[in-house]
Amino acid sequence: MTSISRNEIADILKSRGQEQEEFFQRARDAYREVDPGSVYLRGLLEISNICVNDCLYCGIRKSNSSMERYDTSVVEIIEVAANVWNCGIRSMVIQSGERRDKNFTEFIEDMLKGIKAVYPEMAITLSLGEQSPEVYRRFFEAGAGRYLLRIETSSKKLYEKIHPEEMSYENRVRCLESLREAGYQVGTGVMIGLPGQRAEDLADDILFFRNMDIDMCGMGPFIPHGHTPMGGALIDEQERLALSLNMISALRIAMPFINIAATTALETISPGGRKLGVLAGANVIMPQFSPEKNRGNYKLYEGKPERCPLSSDIVEEMRSIGMEVRLESTGTSAHYKRRKSCQ
Ligand code: SF4
Repeated sequence: MTSISRNEIADILKSRGQEQEEFFQRARDAYREVDPGSVYLRGLLEISNICVNDCLYCGIRKSNSSMERYDTSVVEIIEVAANVWNCGIRSMVIQSGERRDKNFTEFIEDMLKGIKAVYPEMAITLSLGEQSPEVYRRFFEAGAGRYLLRIETSSKKLYEKIHPEEMSYENRVRCLESLREAGYQVGTGVMIGLPGQRAEDLADDILFFRNMDIDMCGMGPFIPHGHTPMGGALIDEQERLALSLNMISALRIAMPFINIAATTALETISPGGRKLGVLAGANVIMPQFSPEKNRGNYKLYEGKPERCPLSSDIVEEMRSIGMEVRLESTGTSAHYKRRKSCQ
């Protein structure tokens, strides 16, 4: 980890033009010291849009009755794992709306064991929201090694504005701690450009990531969904894009060893946004592998791209900016490896 102050982060966040390019270069240099020019792919699979929560910003919140709900069978999931594997990708991210019932827990265990039986080398990241420490342990033992749980904002005040009363900031932080105790590579992230979010909140997000000593991060611009109650004055798209890229470079400078995703939301807000994310210091891309029939129904926000880019497109796109996609690699977070070697 590099020592970085709140003031330095604030300078990065407000930079534009030449000064911004210089911070991007500093972020790329920081990453090159760790892993020269590598980009890692994760095949993204959204297995269900059924969710028990009602987050105010989310298109699949339980009270959005306009959303057709779906889930995916273990057989279909293993077919997707085969597609991912055949593209040379050795890592999957499996995402779902949040459920905490016994059937769901058992289903996830069966799914993990099923994938691991066929592809024991496949690294699996889960993104299934808040669960109990025991359930996190069960998923880990069944074969998941990585878990992504976004804090969405490290400001407790803002967190409470965008979540229903029954969800608590403290519990979200406790969940992140439980994940670490269970042995996962732990990822989190935030939305950038939320109504009411201040530059200081974003600077604090970077410090939060560092204090939590995370292994991976996925953050992107806030994109509102029409079937949600979340309104408010939004900063314009170009400004949200600039801030998102600056958040990536600030985090890369602060934490050179972690994995940082160039998220789908970046590409949604600006075609080519994913490439810009890598140029700002990101090193992970998550191509969409969800079955075609379900893609339109997993819209956390509107305008999300539905095409399934082949890994070869991404390889060429990354080569054009001097980066190399490492197919056949699980892309374990270098930060996690260091953390483990110190234990
Ligand atoms: S953000 Fe996650 S937990 Fe909240 S409503 Fe959406 S899917 Fe559910």
